[in-house]
Amino acid sequence: MYFTEIDEQSYGVKPMNCLAHMLIYKSKMRSYRDLPLRYFELGTVHRHEKSGVLHGLLRVRGFTQDDAHILCTPEQLDGEIKGVLKFVQDVMEIFGFEYEMEISTRPEKAIGSDEDWERATSALMSALKDSALPFEINEGDGAFYGPKIDIKLKDALDRKWQCATIQCDFTLPERFDLTYVGSDGEKHRPVMVHRVILGAIERFIGVLIEHFAGSFPLWVSPVQAVIINVTDNQAEYAQKVYQQLVDSGVRVKIDLRNEKLGFKIREAQMEKIPYMLVIGDREMENGQVAPRSRTGKTIDPMTPENFIRFVEDESRQYH
Ligand code: ZN
Repeated sequence: MYFTEIDEQSYGVKPMNCLAHMLIYKSKMRSYRDLPLRYFELGTVHRHEKSGVLHGLLRVRGFTQDDAHILCTPEQLDGEIKGVLKFVQDVMEIFGFEYEMEISTRPEKAIGSDEDWERATSALMSALKDSALPFEINEGDGAFYGPKIDIKLKDALDRKWQCATIQCDFTLPERFDLTYVGSDGEKHRPVMVHRVILGAIERFIGVLIEHFAGSFPLWVSPVQAVIINVTDNQAEYAQKVYQQLVDSGVRVKIDLRNEKLGFKIREAQMEKIPYMLVIGDREMENGQVAPRSRTGKTIDPMTPENFIRFVEDESRQYH
């Protein structure tokens, strides 16, 4: 952890998001009718990793997790785990990732009753079996506080990267004395699940860059199109089209430099921008743009409105 002192008081920068979620849960009395409670946070955390292990975007000291903590009754655990695993699979499919799943079971030294472990492990197992995808079992490799599912992505170089995790936890509800009032009027201990889907966003972006080798699909490209004029003659019309695209939410840039067309196209291809919108005299006269893909494929000229619709259609399926 990183520590500091402010006004003679000690502070630590949070290395995980779990604890705040526990405190929110504990801030009032909970009934079984309130459960499951799912707290989500895009939470930035800091960990003082040794400098030797830092590695580009893949291992950093400050990062943001798409972190959630689910508090539920033991009976709800099965459904909650299945829901999270389905979520993970949907997201992996959107990005087209190959991934491997592993379940880690009870280690020798563990806390929690046999019954707790049994229930949590069988909830994870049954979700994995339901998914109909292969998985590995790491016998005895779980954390002392609960079993977990790890989902590892494979990048273009076949390296595996841990991103999503679904972890059951018996310690925190105990340590924070979290309770809910059951239908019997008695106090019970909720079960807790930590889960991340993308994991550390920075690492995920790093894996994504490797995966697509920089050629992002249109919907996720930081720059989706670049407008390129042939001569100064079309500069004003090009500006107008640029503004129209910006106003419609297309992530576009404009290249009005006084360079040869071939040079500007090559440069955009090197930057792996999905589309180049070429504007010559003919396109200007017809109120159109001539799209060209980064792979060199030319597309029939179209109006800027139609290009905007094209980008929207292509992106919509991922929303
Ligand atoms: Zn957590």
